[in-house]
Amino acid sequence: MNIHFMEFPREVLLGKNILSRVGEIINRFGFHAPLIISGPLTYKIAASRIEKEIQADVLTIEQVTLSEVERIQQEIRETHNDVVIGAGGGKIMDASKLAASWADIPWISVPTSSSNDSLSSQALSFLLSKEAEEEGKSSHAHAPLCIVIDMAIVEKAPRRMLIAGCSDLISNYTAVRDWELAHRLKGEYYSDYAAALSMMSAKLVIENARTVKEDPDEGARLVLKGLVSSGVAMSIAGSSRPASGSEHLFSHALDLLGSKALHGEQCGAGAIMMMYLHNADWKSVRDVLKYIGAPTTGAELGVDADTVVKALTMCHKLRDRYTILGEKGITRKAAKALAETTGVI
Ligand SMILES: [Zn+2]
Repeated sequence: MNIHFMEFPREVLLGKNILSRVGEIINRFGFHAPLIISGPLTYKIAASRIEKEIQADVLTIEQVTLSEVERIQQEIRETHNDVVIGAGGGKIMDASKLAASWADIPWISVPTSSSNDSLSSQALSFLLSKEAEEEGKSSHAHAPLCIVIDMAIVEKAPRRMLIAGCSDLISNYTAVRDWELAHRLKGEYYSDYAAALSMMSAKLVIENARTVKEDPDEGARLVLKGLVSSGVAMSIAGSSRPASGSEHLFSHALDLLGSKALHGEQCGAGAIMMMYLHNADWKSVRDVLKYIGAPTTGAELGVDADTVVKALTMCHKLRDRYTILGEKGITRKAAKALAETTGVI
């Protein structure tokens, strides 16, 4: 029998100065040997504070690569850790969820910013999952067992992170359109409920764009709730489909071409162009991104026109995921026209 599997976070805590709750969760769930993973900066702002509350091993990682994830798995095996606590941004979440999944233990998400939906989902960043697949390793990860969002920390994250999180959420608009298309043209599994929840998370940001702009603290709260809902939509779908379509493919292509812009920023700019291809209201998406201060052009992302066009023509090949770009992608001429018409180049 074909089983559709859904996995959800069990507890989501959102409040100010709540890092002490991590210890309470560890005790309540009966974990004995936690491993905290963070980056050098997020160690200072979050992990070191959790370390004061609980007996835990700590690993600080500089670069999230497959070999680093292997090192973490090794550490888990040697010290018999029974839970991973990921304290940091999207990359730390990626390393935490993949290492925990390889070691078959749960992980707890303690985000330090609201820059993308990695904090609430089973989905991995493109480059890490690609690297894992190329090396014959599993790129399957689990959703977090618990999410502890300390708003006192998240509010202090650079504003750029908040805006990137908004852009990642707004890009759900094109992800859901692509998913629906794949359902209609390819018979792919589609969930109305997951799609609606994903769209609602995007709408929440658009309807509250003014709050995001004028009251960043309240904005961060809103965006985090949206990111958690977006993660739940992915849990319902059993894949990242509701939050990752052609606009994410564009972002992945930019990553491969060496772009240094944030994931959400690239997805937002991608969503403008993919909305155009879907014959949808791309101008509203562009306008709201502009309004909140998100990049809407290649120049603002720090990539030249040629790179934008190249990313557009290559991105359909990056994943086995049917989108508006079709199986053959778009021609260079069409890609250039698309980027120029939408003002991205
Ligand atoms: Zn994303």
